[in-house]
Amino acid sequence: MGTKGKEIIKDAERIVGLLNRALADEWLAYYQYWVGSKVAKGPLRPNVTAELAEHAGEELEHANMLAERIIQLGGTPLVSPVEIEKHKNCDYEAPSDPHTVRLLEQNIKGEQCAIEVYNKLLHEIKGAGDYITFNMVRKILEDEVKHEEDLQSLLEDIGLSK
Ligand code: FE
Ligand code: FE
Ligand code: MG
Repeated sequence: MGTKGKEIIKDAERIVGLLNRALADEWLAYYQYWVGSKVAKGPLRPNVTAELAEHAGEELEHANMLAERIIQLGGTPLVSPVEIEKHKNCDYEAPSDPHTVRLLEQNIKGEQCAIEVYNKLLHEIKGAGDYITFNMVRKILEDEVKHEEDLQSLLEDIGLSK
């Protein structure tokens, strides 16, 4: 990528650092959803596994968006699992209990953390004049809000089916 984008964004290095932390979260969110969709058991299993698998794909797409923007800003996406673990904002909740209710609760916690992280990130970059990153983060935030809502609805459906 050219240096043009870098030239107009004075804060590129700081933004790259923040985006890499978000990338760590997305990668872990992807894995948590992906493995959760494999192991899930219990009420509404087909619905829950389908939703978790879909969200896994969307988290991976977020990771893609972040990595591409990091590269455009002249940075390097995190290159090892050790770095991912070190830079994450949100806790990884291992789906060691495969019950659908437990998985939904864990992933809701993850989405709430993601929503908080992206809200903060928007505040942290709003003065930098990096409109591309700002819009990208806003779009990701919208997806995370939708994710949380979808999981809450499934949890509600399970509650109503008892
Ligand atoms: Fe995400
Ligand atoms: Fe999400
Ligand atoms: Mg969904």
